[in-house]
Amino acid sequence: VQGAPIISSGGKERLKGVVLVFHDITELKKLEQMRKDFVANVSHELKTPVTSVKGFTETLLDGAANDEVLRNRFLKIIWEESERLQSLIQDLLDLSKIEQSQFQLNWQHVDLSLLTDDVIIMLSNKAKKKEIQISKVIEGLTSIEGDPLRIKQIMINLVNNAIMYTPKGGSIVISIKENTKEKVLFSVKDTGIGISKSETLRVFERFYRVDRARSRNSGGTGLGLAIVKHLVEAHHGEIRLESEIGKGSQFTISFNKKQR
Ligand code: ADP
Repeated sequence: VQGAPIISSGGKERLKGVVLVFHDITELKKLEQMRKDFVANVSHELKTPVTSVKGFTETLLDGAANDEVLRNRFLKIIWEESERLQSLIQDLLDLSKIEQSQFQLNWQHVDLSLLTDDVIIMLSNKAKKKEIQISKVIEGLTSIEGDPLRIKQIMINLVNNAIMYTPKGGSIVISIKENTKEKVLFSVKDTGIGISKSETLRVFERFYRVDRARSRNSGGTGLGLAIVKHLVEAHHGEIRLESEIGKGSQFTISFNKKQR
């Protein structure tokens, strides 16, 4: 709070009133706390795989390398942890680029159906390993205005999650529906573990995971949906999540057909 007395003119200094200026710092404090949490989260997420790589390398150098079975097991862990580090660094770089105001989209005509085919092919091995069926449903026109690389990134993150959080033998339906003259809805629906109502908003926060261990074991970084949300907003679109525990989840994005 800043205050300044108002003195009346005319020589005599008489107090007429006081002007109070209120600065609401709640938002600033919240931002500062978010920044601190982010740095703490990043440090923690980077530290865990590095500690693991160091520990297993030391054990190998101390003699475990002479045992073929142990050597192969430890090398596999080191490789997996390095992969985790690589995805985390990639996601962090993406997120920081996207959050910077100079981030520019390369607007073009994009056919969502063709991009979906690329993504299905790209992730088909991963789905096959879990015997998960991925299908595509189209209704109406599938063209929108957007940045093809970024939209592909959105699709990969959503379909990858759908595979990750769906048990063996489940199914995923990707649908593209012309909604109105201006909107095309893109959705990814799975028969997975689902997300509770109270957590449907939180999953878009950086590093928020419903089940930390499950996300870690499947190679998740906790940044995928935060990246998706930013990219959707950059396209002036909206993302919605409907989900039921034990039944599955559906992420729906509404894209604009016309260029802004
Ligand atoms: P992660 O790398 O952990 O998957 P995301 O930002 O992509 O991070 O997702 C955040 C969290 O939201 C996940 O850890 C998971 O708990 C939950 N989640 C995301 N997608 C799904 C889904 N399709 N089904 C169930 N839970 C999901």
